[in-house]
Amino acid sequence: MKQLLLSNPGTTIDLDVTEMPDSVPLFRRLYICFEACRKGFVLGCRPFIGLDGTFLKGFYDGQLLTAIGQDANNQIFPIAYAVVDSETKDNWKWFLENLHADLGNYRVHGWNFISDQQKGLIPAMKEVMHDVHHRFCAMHIWSNFTKRWKDKQLKGAVWECCKSTTVQQFDVAMMRLKEVNEAAWEYLNRLDPKSWTKAHFSDWSKVDNVTNNNCETFNGKILKYRGKPTITMLEEVRTYIMRFMARNKKSFSGYIGRVAPRQLSRLEREKEESSKWTPTLAGDDDMNIYEVEKHPTKVTVDLGNQECTCRFWQLTGLPCRHACAALAHRGRRPEEQIHNWLGMQAYNTAYRQNINPVPSKEFWEKVTDILFFHPITKEELVDLRKREERKEMSRGLTPIRTRLKENMGRPYAIIVARLAIIANLVRERRMTLMMWQQLLQKRRKDKQPMNQVERTKLHQSTKWRQLPYLLKTLRVWHLDLTRLCLLRP
Ligand SMILES: [Zn+2]
Repeated sequence: MKQLLLSNPGTTIDLDVTEMPDSVPLFRRLYICFEACRKGFVLGCRPFIGLDGTFLKGFYDGQLLTAIGQDANNQIFPIAYAVVDSETKDNWKWFLENLHADLGNYRVHGWNFISDQQKGLIPAMKEVMHDVHHRFCAMHIWSNFTKRWKDKQLKGAVWECCKSTTVQQFDVAMMRLKEVNEAAWEYLNRLDPKSWTKAHFSDWSKVDNVTNNNCETFNGKILKYRGKPTITMLEEVRTYIMRFMARNKKSFSGYIGRVAPRQLSRLEREKEESSKWTPTLAGDDDMNIYEVEKHPTKVTVDLGNQECTCRFWQLTGLPCRHACAALAHRGRRPEEQIHNWLGMQAYNTAYRQNINPVPSKEFWEKVTDILFFHPITKEELVDLRKREERKEMSRGLTPIRTRLKENMGRPYAIIVARLAIIANLVRERRMTLMMWQQLLQKRRKDKQPMNQVERTKLHQSTKWRQLPYLLKTLRVWHLDLTRLCLLRP
């Protein structure tokens, strides 16, 4: 981590450990936000952040919390991530506090968030950033909804409600739903409309996403690293972000347009539709107000304030079909009316900095001031084995693996190696168990009840009560095997 900071100055790393009374601290959680990601997001991306937690599938079950933004070309932009034991309120609060400190005040910058309706995240968000614009992923709402109601017509109604861009459209869609099924309507009506419908979204962020696809995409990209030991996984994720940022920086280096390509193609669709609409000048002093009509619908476009009744322009920063019709009447190009956040200048600002390479372990500076139990990597297990072998050799013995290989054949040698790995894991689990037992004793002494998280943790760790016995058995097996191979001529 020291090396990471040396290569990437300005990066935030928050390592949290659990203090142990009789030994070095135990790894608890780790937050990382690269300076390149932080600066790129704050200066070059729209103020829209997706949050999500995903399971790690390695030996050390835990979760990876991620904060993902979106660049001017609607591609994902990683901001920060953290390794925690589970998606609790406490962990989310710690993550959000770190994120808030890195990105700056949410009221000044107007950060908008999107996430699942995660039980730990919602109260944590309320405590760290009170009253922040927080959307819930429509896909998540929809999947919860379809668990209760399987009716096809009802399923479609959910999407109709969340995609309506005006309050009137939304109300009509909800009324229609109420007529079909009152219980379903009640279920959706209980949700805060600001959190799931375009009609009530804040138009500040210029992102009209109703789903948390950015996080899903990122989680998909790092899927293959999620099963690796923690340190290896974190290093793989860093190199992925480094590659990803370099590729995006390079991919549009020769592009000369002012507006990002994906925004331009979305605008093209609006321009095509605009020919069906007829603009009429209202006659205000600045000649900015238009009535735009396609029978029987009429909307008002205000070119000065970049607004339309349909709210598409306000929500996305792109002129809607009605605005395009009015702009054509005024002889103006819609491309020039696109919000700056969707331009190539913003895009290039986001990728101006890069993540610097981090040399591998043999080039690291020796660290003596921090000492803690961190999850063991595969390389460390190999080191451990080699150390044992050297010890045996110094005593004039042939290493057990070699003896086994020679006398019993390769399969036995593999079994012993696996036993060694299991013994190591077991030892580490035992440390956790001891820690929880100490906590339990302390709480009993202080006559304090344990909270929900602590109770669950303790319950999980009781599975490991038989560890001493298991360790003993392992040792006996190991001895048996050794004796067996020594007895053989
Ligand atoms: Zn419009």
